[in-house]
Amino acid sequence: MSENYYDIYIKLLQRYGAQSWWPADTPFEMLIGSILVQNTSWRNVEKAMEQLKPFLSPEQIEKLTQEELARLIRPSGFFNVKAKRIKAFIAWFRLYDYEVENLKKRDREEIRNELLGINGIGRETADVMLLYAFDKPIFVVDAYARRIFYRLGNDMPVSYDGFRFILEKELPLDLLLMNEYHALLVEHAKVHCKSNPICNGCPLFDLCARRLE
Ligand code: SF4
Repeated sequence: MSENYYDIYIKLLQRYGAQSWWPADTPFEMLIGSILVQNTSWRNVEKAMEQLKPFLSPEQIEKLTQEELARLIRPSGFFNVKAKRIKAFIAWFRLYDYEVENLKKRDREEIRNELLGINGIGRETADVMLLYAFDKPIFVVDAYARRIFYRLGNDMPVSYDGFRFILEKELPLDLLLMNEYHALLVEHAKVHCKSNPICNGCPLFDLCARRLE
């Protein structure tokens, strides 16, 4: 069993290399992508983004009706709900003149609380926004992180923030490290620690309890 979260990070980094996330051309595209990816695969986000691309600025999305927006993002699934969420997010973003730089200057917890107050923005979505658009170091807890740490043998808290606090206590609160750690866990969950894990050749094999039940 391993509780050395830094060792895990280093082993993943050595195996997979820097991931340099988030996969987006602009911070605004990243922000919209973080809503589109809720409950769907990245492949579907890419299809929706392709259709949305000609309208990909806060001003243009604001001009679209919710129905028009929903039609454009249809490939991402739950498109009516997501259109409503994107509209709510844009209304909040307007308070900051649609400038990511204005948010970077603010305190992490203040922005997080505001994001969590927006309809449909939960902890995971808020935290990827904080990490990948607003340059705030934070540990993102997702289903992949839960799966990997459980299998490694670490008994993590059930609550989102309880899980996050443990990682943030044990690791340097460094933007690049947090950025890479989340991306590397996603990569590891896709390459080795899949639903049916491929333990042979896994970079974490020596640290892992292989708790698969
Ligand atoms: S050894 Fe297997 S269960 Fe453990 S992290 Fe690697 S792939 Fe996952």
